Amino acid sequence: MDPRTGANGAEGLLVRRLIEQGIRDPRVLAAFARVPRRFFVPEEAQGESEADRPLDIGHGQTISQPFIVAAMTEALQLQGRERVLEVGTGSGYQTAILAELLPLSTTIRTAEIVPELAWRAQRVLRELGYDNVEFRIGDGALGWPEAAPYEAILVAAAPAVVPPALLEQLAPGGRLVIPVGPSSDNQELQLWRRDPETGALNRRVLMHVRFVPLTGGPTGLH
Ligand code: SAH
Repeated sequence: MDPRTGANGAEGLLVRRLIEQGIRDPRVLAAFARVPRRFFVPEEAQGESEADRPLDIGHGQTISQPFIVAAMTEALQLQGRERVLEVGTGSGYQTAILAELLPLSTTIRTAEIVPELAWRAQRVLRELGYDNVEFRIGDGALGWPEAAPYEAILVAAAPAVVPPALLEQLAPGGRLVIPVGPSSDNQELQLWRRDPETGALNRRVLMHVRFVPLTGGPTGLH
């Protein structure tokens, strides 16, 4: 058991499964070994906290499947000096994984549109000692302009098209990982990168995914 976070054998199992599923980055795997997933899962779903699939966290929202959280994190290739923005805090599990990859001196910003979820995630993350996270309740499709630009932006809910504000807030060399698609059965996980020299944006499709819709904002689904 990790004395600081309370991660236990369940996390070891999770890491072995992620390796089988193709996750390679040792720093990402180490982060999964340290974050106790059960703390982020509400009481009702506790029995299933080790299941390898999305779980219900209430308010029609889900905690993402560990493999997807890992693949998105890996795609960001965090070195530890990035300014990071997360859109869709949800349970806070992905936030904790990101926090593990950055030094305590780096602030991670995370936005959530459902206040109850934001409050709960904030409480759990504070209890586990993740003190370098700043929370905002509101529409993350608008980004968080006051702290922009970001070297890494991770979006955990799918808009029909990429919100322009998020691309505008991407630093030179910055990466944006985001599910995009008109409906839950027709989404792709996209990785955007701003060229450090020319500032041009390029886009790659990583895989097909199934996320809850990004709500609010002009480009979100309602
Ligand atoms: N990575 C999270 C997944 C959360 S699901 C986890 O592992 O728990 C996606 C979250 O995005 C939901 O909590 C939903 O309420 C939130 N969301 C949807 N639209 C949003 C928006 N426009 N701004 C901020 N959060 C949003």
